[in-house]
Amino acid sequence: MTISDITRCIKNAHKRIFYRNTKLSGIARFLLMSQTPLKGEKVIFQHDPKDDSFNWRYDKNDKKHFITSTEKIHNVVNVKTKNSLALTTNFMKEVYRHELGHALYTERDSDILIQELKKYNIPFNLFNLFEDCFIEFKIVKDFPQFGKFFWHRYVDILDEAHTASEALYSLKLKEAMIRMHNSKSGNLTRFLPDVKFNSGLKEKVIYISNTQRKSEINSRLAITKYYREYCESDNIYLKADILNRWILTFGSDVPHHYEGQNKVQGYQDQEESSNPQIGNANSDKGITSNIDYDNIENRGFGITEGERSLTNRIFSSLRPICKKAYSIRNAISTSGSRLYIKNAITRLENAFRSYRKTGSKLKMICFVDFSGSMRQTIMHLGGKEFLGALKLLSDRNIIDLKMIISYNEHNYDITNDSLSKIMEIEPCGSHENFDNNLKKYDSELKDQDLVLLFTDGYLTGNIPSEENYRRRGINLIASCICEKEYIPKIRSYCDQYFTKSFIDSSPISLAKRLLEYSLKKA
Ligand SMILES: [Zn+2]
Repeated sequence: MTISDITRCIKNAHKRIFYRNTKLSGIARFLLMSQTPLKGEKVIFQHDPKDDSFNWRYDKNDKKHFITSTEKIHNVVNVKTKNSLALTTNFMKEVYRHELGHALYTERDSDILIQELKKYNIPFNLFNLFEDCFIEFKIVKDFPQFGKFFWHRYVDILDEAHTASEALYSLKLKEAMIRMHNSKSGNLTRFLPDVKFNSGLKEKVIYISNTQRKSEINSRLAITKYYREYCESDNIYLKADILNRWILTFGSDVPHHYEGQNKVQGYQDQEESSNPQIGNANSDKGITSNIDYDNIENRGFGITEGERSLTNRIFSSLRPICKKAYSIRNAISTSGSRLYIKNAITRLENAFRSYRKTGSKLKMICFVDFSGSMRQTIMHLGGKEFLGALKLLSDRNIIDLKMIISYNEHNYDITNDSLSKIMEIEPCGSHENFDNNLKKYDSELKDQDLVLLFTDGYLTGNIPSEENYRRRGINLIASCICEKEYIPKIRSYCDQYFTKSFIDSSPISLAKRLLEYSLKKA
């Protein structure tokens, strides 16, 4: 099919959505003329071959909707539709209906929308995916005379999902919500594709309810719970809250099809357009020095009194531990030059030549997992104060520290940034990218007394080979702060990937255990 064929199909589809109300046709006429929320409103239909996808936007000042069509949408259709003018025309009609759904139901005030998305650092793409689920459910429910979308006629629906968002996309394409609504069986999981748990997605996840209650449930169930809640929420504040909880549970990645769409419906996803913050992990960058804080989500205020006091308390409890170790440094300075291969290939934690490779200051490198699931730990459970205390030890010349933020394709050395600045930043990535980022610092790792990964062990792929590091005498030590009831679970995740883990509900106790371990003589 040539481009001009596709253009012809779009024109025909546009004509038909204004036909007198016959089955499947005439939806635009109907929505604009009958008693619907769109009655009497102005909708301008325009065409732009350069746009990646059909899109809708609302001009607040002129009170006009704009729906833009483009041939490029034809890229997503299946082979059968690609070769059929009739199917292509019908597909375009459904896409027009979809955009009319946005005109009917999507938040029109772009300032409010952007403000809510920014508040929780929700990528526009992810919002768009959920919103597409929502508007399609709503328009079919409210105007059943036009039937379902039946996307399976026009696009291939994958029968496997490797991420939660891919599974969600399948629910959208299968119109699971409307089908469940009609059948009253209430079971949504039967519409899920085969969910694969081998690439980072866990079989059990922490689901967060709308009352902030956390429970560990099957991830298939969690996907359908968030999906259903979103479809049943009709204001942007509730929706943003659901998206925030989804990100805490699953991260903020989107299916491939949604990746490019950071400028749909006229709203520019500002974080994303100015830099590839929620980018794809393949476009990996080298070592990033000179961190630009605009690149990381910033809560907008510096260190608070409470945070400073906790940071100082952690610092004060660590200082004597370090001092004591250094006072005997001559005694241990000559130890630990040999690697015990026999023990190293089994998983004995005392297999290493030494916990301290030099007799001088403790040398540590700390990779901080800045993926979405770390938000709670870093922001609310003392994580940033723990990191801040390490930073204070380094500032006072008590330890030798390098601290790296690791997320998506980024690695930011924040060692020399001020404490206040470090306190301002928030986890914003979907992906911790440990393997790539460890490799960038590979030449420095073997000189460290402690290679620390501050992480909850919810790794989303890019998993370092612990065994390879261990064989070279490098311990990958994980640590995390979490609520008491999650300690065993997070420990089991971390133990799966790392040499040893320290998981604690108190940042002070965590810091003490960790340093005591690291300063211990082999
Ligand atoms: Zn849409």
